[in-house]
Amino acid sequence: MRRSYGGTGLSEEQRQICDLARQFARDVLRPGAEARDEHEDRFDRDPVDRLGELGFLGMLIPEQYDGLGLDMLTYLFALEEIAWGDASVAVSMSVHNSLPTQTLLRHGSEEQKERWLKPMARGELLGAFSLSEAGSGSDAGSLLAQATRDGDGWIVTGEKLWVTNGASADVALLMVRTDSPDDRRGTRGVGAFLVPTELAGWVPGKKERKMGLRGSETVAVSLEELRLGPEHLIGEAGRGFSYALEALEGGRLGIAAQAIGIAEAALDHARDYAGEREQFGRPIKDFQGIQFKLADMATRLEAARGLLYRAAQAYEADEPRKRKLSSMAKLFASEMATWVTRQAVQVYGGYGYSREYPVERLFRDAKVTEIYEGTSEIHRLIISRELYLERGADE
Ligand SMILES: Cc1cc2nc3c(=O)[nH]c(=O)nc-3n(C[C@H](O)[C@H](O)[C@H](O)COP(=O)(O)OP(=O)(O)OC[C@H]3O[C@@H](n4cnc5c(N)ncnc54)[C@H](O)[C@@H]3O)c2cc1C
Repeated sequence: MRRSYGGTGLSEEQRQICDLARQFARDVLRPGAEARDEHEDRFDRDPVDRLGELGFLGMLIPEQYDGLGLDMLTYLFALEEIAWGDASVAVSMSVHNSLPTQTLLRHGSEEQKERWLKPMARGELLGAFSLSEAGSGSDAGSLLAQATRDGDGWIVTGEKLWVTNGASADVALLMVRTDSPDDRRGTRGVGAFLVPTELAGWVPGKKERKMGLRGSETVAVSLEELRLGPEHLIGEAGRGFSYALEALEGGRLGIAAQAIGIAEAALDHARDYAGEREQFGRPIKDFQGIQFKLADMATRLEAARGLLYRAAQAYEADEPRKRKLSSMAKLFASEMATWVTRQAVQVYGGYGYSREYPVERLFRDAKVTEIYEGTSEIHRLIISRELYLERGADE
């Protein structure tokens, strides 16, 4: 049996949500995870829709807007459970909950909330988030897709890349330039638009063939004279990049939770396998070399969990150190997950290298957590920058 929530001070309602997530992960997600990994060419939206029916696509949205109105910690607990069941489903849940919906909640008008946020919170509309382009990843502010004024609306052209849920989502939060080529304003020249993906100019292209997370849909999107009205612009035209960064600060807590869920699954498998597999006339769990490995895996996992919960607390309380802590949690949890899943493969020996067993998939799935929503290198930059800012503030 996996962890209890002892010591976390959860209310009965929060505990029930976590139990529901655990049950769903065990009974619905885990049995289909291997097939979703095998058939990466067709995205299976059904588990994500079922999460929506349970209210899990509106966890952080207030009840006033048809969400569950839960706190960040409960959401992260649930996300860990979902990632334990299938990391590919977890990323859809994480993107939807933390990026487009949070931006709409913070910066959308009441009409936009009524039209899009409410059905998103009810799980009737699935969201995507489109910031990256071929030439702009870590340096996301250098994006080139262009919105040009057309009457009181915009015509948007350009190429976006790496859009999770990009072909199947119903709506996408799209970041494009709203300054003009003659008057570039850097990151202050970017707008955020809420785009219904049924619009003619939103053209999903090639699906990425990925190392892991193959059950998740990642696509390139061409913006072909995409016509948007003023009702699609979220907040102010030049503020879209700052809205995106703000959302990503919470988003990376979700990715840390995803990494923890993947690592927990790998540890569970490794522990069980070590109890069953016999060599030299006894279970391999009786060898100290394996015992130490399991102990180190479990210890690093709990350390990541502790850091994530501390970061979530800082996020909720809007502490000055929240940015540093959320980068630390994402950095530490993702590197922990790649390390733990690698150890799990080792505990399985040759069988760990076989696609017959789940740990090789977990090993492949874990890797991306070090890359998206800020690479490990970028988070190290943020952490070190924050250290000096803090010192400056103390002086
Ligand atoms: C499966 C998947 C899903 C994704 N989903 C989405 C999505 O839904 N929406 C979206 O907008 N994007 C998404 N992305 C894109 C993701 O956020 C980017 O891949 C990520 O930000 C890294 O950008 P890049 O791939 O261009 O790498 P680059 O920025 O080109 O980085 C290449 C290497 O250089 C390093 N590097 C770059 N700059 C520095 C620096 N200043 N100092 C030190 N090292 C540096 C990086 O850490 C990395 O190791 C997704 C990516 C993947 C793989």
